[in-house]
Formats: sequence, C-alpha cells, structure tokens
Amino acid sequence: MSRYTGPKCKLCRREGMKLFLKGARCETVKCAIAKRAHPPGEHPWARKKRSEYGHQLREKQKAKRTYGVFERSFRKLFALANRQKGNTGENLIKLLERRLDNVVYLCGFAHSRAHARQMIVHGHVRLNSKRATIGSMRVKAGDTVLVRERPKSRKMVEITHEATKHRGVPSWLQVDPKTFEGKVLELPKREEAAIDLQEQLIVEFCSK
Ligand code: SF4
Repeated sequence: MSRYTGPKCKLCRREGMKLFLKGARCETVKCAIAKRAHPPGEHPWARKKRSEYGHQLREKQKAKRTYGVFERSFRKLFALANRQKGNTGENLIKLLERRLDNVVYLCGFAHSRAHARQMIVHGHVRLNSKRATIGSMRVKAGDTVLVRERPKSRKMVEITHEATKHRGVPSWLQVDPKTFEGKVLELPKREEAAIDLQEQLIVEFCSK
C-alpha cells in the first residue's frame, strides 16, 4: 500500500487531532485543526458511531501517518515488537521512536518527520560518522546523528534549528547546537513519546 500523498491537513481533521505533518505551519494559527477542529464534510458530526474495529483501525492509521511508515514496514515492525519481551504496544512505539528520521526531527534539525526523511535521502545526515540515506534505520544507545559539515547542509539546519528549538529535546537525546550533533543517551521509554496513541488498540487490530 502506498503512502498517502494528498492534503496532509485533511488527515489531521479526519483523525480529529494534530499529527504535525506540515512542520512549522502546525504550530501557527494557520493549522487547520486550530481553525476548525472537526472532520471534513458538510455534516461532520452526523456520521455513524465508530465500531470497535473502526477505533482500532484509526489508531493504527494515526501511528502510521504520524511516523510516515508504509503498511508493510509497519507490519514488520509490529512483528518485531511482538517478538520482543514486554508489552507489544509499548515496544512498537519505542521502535517507531528509534527511527533515524524521527530522531533527526526530535533533535530539531528538521521541521517535520517528512522533512527529516528528505534531509536523510539527500545526504545531509551522518549516523556514527557514516553517510545514512535511509530514514527507517534504527538508532541505538550511544549512536550519534550529525548534520554534514558542508556549507549547504549547515546553512539549512541553522535556520531550521533556530525555528524549532522551542520544541525542546526528549531526555533520551542530547543535542549540541553548535556542532548540530545529536547523541542517543539511552533507548526511549514509551512515556517519552509525545504522541497521543492507544497502542493497545493497534495491538488488537494487528493481532487479528
Ligand atoms: Fe495537521 Fe495542523 Fe499540521 Fe495541518 S497544520 S498537518 S492540520 S497539525
């Protein structure tokens, strides 16, 4: 199944929550959710009540769209989370948080996860001093994520970091704003993921 390429704000309105898909715009009054917090359509509240299946599906779609993951990759991650010890839902969120594109976003080097993915694909990012071009790579404790030291990359990240520094950085990451290097201090905990998801519903959906 391909990744959704239509209007991003439509997805947020459908989910009834901010998915932060458009970077800086998401934090302004131009955000479609801030302006109009109801689903699209002429009679948005006249819709049928959602079934249990519908709720489960929505949570899975929310997770996929927030992290920008294809269905097939999502299923693979779920299978991995299921094989790991502990709570499958929490494992899944932790695996999603460890994606390189998510880490670049959380470090404040990109406006959104989609922007981070683009930076990675275009070769602006190094993981442990090596070129990294795949956003789905998973970081581990002790890894370093560096914006390449070439003028084009640095100029771009200086502007972005200035605009995103108010977001702060989660405690499992450390960012040096002078060198634009992020360090993974430890693996993320579920509660550190700033995403409003009921992962148990995803587990129920994917276990069928
Ligand atoms: Fe979602 Fe608002 Fe960002 Fe649009 S601007 S993608 S509605 S969070």
